[in-house]
Amino acid sequence: MTDFHAEYAPAAPPAQLPRPPLRLSCVVPAYNEQANIEGFLRALAQTVQQLTPDYEIVVVNDGSRDNTHEMVMRLSSELPLRYLALSRNFGKEAALSAGIDHARGNAVLLIDADFQHPLEMLSEMHALWQAGYEMVYGVITDRGAESGAKRMGTNLFYHVMNSGNAVKLPPNAGDFRWMDRKVADALKALPEHNRFMKGLYAWVGFKTVALPFVPKDRVAGNSSFNLRRLGSLALLGLTSFTTLPLRIWSMVGGAISLMALAYGFWIAIETMFFGNPLRGWPTLAASIMLFSGVQLLSIGILGEYIGRIYEEVKRRPTYLIAHDEDRSPLRDKL
Ligand code: UDP
Ligand code: MG
Repeated sequence: MTDFHAEYAPAAPPAQLPRPPLRLSCVVPAYNEQANIEGFLRALAQTVQQLTPDYEIVVVNDGSRDNTHEMVMRLSSELPLRYLALSRNFGKEAALSAGIDHARGNAVLLIDADFQHPLEMLSEMHALWQAGYEMVYGVITDRGAESGAKRMGTNLFYHVMNSGNAVKLPPNAGDFRWMDRKVADALKALPEHNRFMKGLYAWVGFKTVALPFVPKDRVAGNSSFNLRRLGSLALLGLTSFTTLPLRIWSMVGGAISLMALAYGFWIAIETMFFGNPLRGWPTLAASIMLFSGVQLLSIGILGEYIGRIYEEVKRRPTYLIAHDEDRSPLRDKL
């Protein structure tokens, strides 16, 4: 565990609480997971049964274009499923929001459908919840086969994200987490439509503890997050959770103005004492180019934020549900 996460975990576990008996909602987002979903849901059910007989699996089909739908429907008579099919691919953040919104348990588990999040960790997460923690999240300790570029991008993202921001994002903490009903309710109450979940988890707070883990290899299929999609997720995170990029340009502007002032002063002195043969064309050309670049870049950054504001003020829903099949045993227990 890195120091960063130690800082987030209270030194001693919170006092033992008399937790009510566990009623667990497992939220599983699935996008083109036909090769994994059946095996995964069975394995998940088997693991969770050892923790509690009172559980539901909320599968959110995020507009899959393969046979994920048929595979899940086939299981609906066997497993305690709540099956939500979104009307198109809204992205993992929206799929998780849909799952959390419909979960009915007193604890909610978020887990990927591709076996990358080890099921063996559930009992430990359960124990920590029982000990009084309100959120238990997995932290990836080994990014193994990831490319150097991806790793550098990730580091840069967390660096920018966490400088000068009141809410710190724990690096390498993903969506694999167990949360108490209180946390799920807090997340549901947040009004934004563009949901950068990693930021929201950190923003709501609560008694949180990190559990280090090494993600397994995807059993079948490929990750949906290529560099472009990761980049746009990073941009969503930055524009939703930090105004540092805006502030940087005020600072750059300030620094440049100071330099310009000093240079102007120097030109005045030079002219007075040494005369002024017309030189300095390269300086002029270079500075014009530099400053037009800086201006375009800062306008672009402003544009990103304004775009985000525009998305929010439209107040469109985060996701649309096309199909809702409710066989959850927790339905009658609310
Ligand atoms: N996923 C989703 N919607 C998407 C992309 C992914 O619901 O648009 C789901 C996917 O089915 C999986 C989880 O989110 O259960 C993680 O996706 P993936 O394995 O592609 O990402 P990675 O593990 O590389 O972060
Ligand atoms: Mg995966």
